Amino acid sequence: MCKTATCVLCAQEASCEMPMLWKSRGMDVLWEDLVRYSCPSCGEYVLSTSLSHKLEQDQADIAFRLACLLRERRLRNEGGIFGIFNDKSEETLRRLAATPSTELRMEGNAATLTLHPVKSIDRIWHIDDLLAEFPAATQLIDRALLNLSRPLKHPVEVIKMTLDELRFPLFCPGDTVDHLYRFIRDSGLVTEWSWSSSGLEFLISPRGWQRLHELSKTPTDSRQAFVAMWFTTETDQVYKEGIEPAVREAEYEPKRIDLVEHNNKICDEIIAEIRRSRFLIADFTGQRGGVYFEAGFAMGLGIPVIWIVPKDQIDKVHFDTRQYNHIVYESPDDLASKLYNRIAATIR
Ligand SMILES: [Zn+2]
Repeated sequence: MCKTATCVLCAQEASCEMPMLWKSRGMDVLWEDLVRYSCPSCGEYVLSTSLSHKLEQDQADIAFRLACLLRERRLRNEGGIFGIFNDKSEETLRRLAATPSTELRMEGNAATLTLHPVKSIDRIWHIDDLLAEFPAATQLIDRALLNLSRPLKHPVEVIKMTLDELRFPLFCPGDTVDHLYRFIRDSGLVTEWSWSSSGLEFLISPRGWQRLHELSKTPTDSRQAFVAMWFTTETDQVYKEGIEPAVREAEYEPKRIDLVEHNNKICDEIIAEIRRSRFLIADFTGQRGGVYFEAGFAMGLGIPVIWIVPKDQIDKVHFDTRQYNHIVYESPDDLASKLYNRIAATIR
C-alpha cells in the first residue's frame, strides 16, 4: 500500500499511503478516500484523493502556497500530521479525527481493517483557512526573514541554499525568487557570501537581526481573541452562550469593543486591540461594515480570522468574503461547539 511518490505540494521525493477507509452501508457519505504523504520538508499531511488530484493537475500555484505554509509551520516546530480538506465532509472528518481508531472484522474470516489514519490527524484545516495565512505583500519580507533565521544555531551561521530551495522560505515562485532575494539583500537584511551555479551562500546581517529582534516583541503568544460583531440585544445571546464559552474553553480571553460609533477614537482602540490579539472572530449577523473592516485589517496583519454566520444569513454574506470557509450556526449552543473545535484545530 505504501509507495514512493512525489510530494503533491512541493514535488520533492516523498512517500505516500492511501488508507482504505470504511465504506459500509449508510456510511458512504461520511467517508472518502484519503491519501497521506510523508515529505521531508512539508512533513506528514493528509488530503482527500480528489483534492490531491486537483492540486496535481491544475492547481500548481495553490500547491506551492500550501507547501510554503506547511514548511513555515514545520520551521516553527509544529509537529504532527496535518489534514487539509476542501469539501463538505470537513466537519465530519473533524469528528472522526477525534474518535478512537476502529477495527472492522470481516464476517467469516479473520481479516481486520484498522482505521488508524483518520484518528491520527492532529490538525485539520479547510484549504481556504490555510491559504488565508499566505503572507500579504506587507508582511512577506518579515515572514521570509523569520523562516531563514529559524534553523540557525548561531547569528553568523552561513545559509546555503539553491534558488530552487529558497522559493519556499521566501514564499516566492521560481520565476521571481531571484528578484526577491536581491531585494532582501539590497535592503541590507542579508549579506551575500557567494552566488554560484551550485547555489547561494549568505548570512543574516546585523540589520536583519535587528529587524528580527523587533519582530520578537510583537505578541505571537497572545491569549486574546478579538470579537468583531454587531453588538445588540439581538446578538447578545450569541456572544454570551456561543462565542464567549467557546473562546474560554479553548483558553483564550475574548475581547469585545461595543461599536457605538465608528469614530476615530474607537478606531484607534480597535486597531490596537486587534494588533494585540492572537486571532479574530468575525460574526456577520446583520452584515455590518465595521466587521468586514476589522476582519480585513486583521488579515493584513497575518492574524487568523474565523468567519461565522447564522444559518439564515449565509446567503447575504458579501461576495468578496464568500470564498472563506464560514462556520454556519443554527443556535448559540451549536456555535459554541463548532467554534471551540475550530479554535482547537487551527489556532496555536
Ligand atoms: Zn513537500
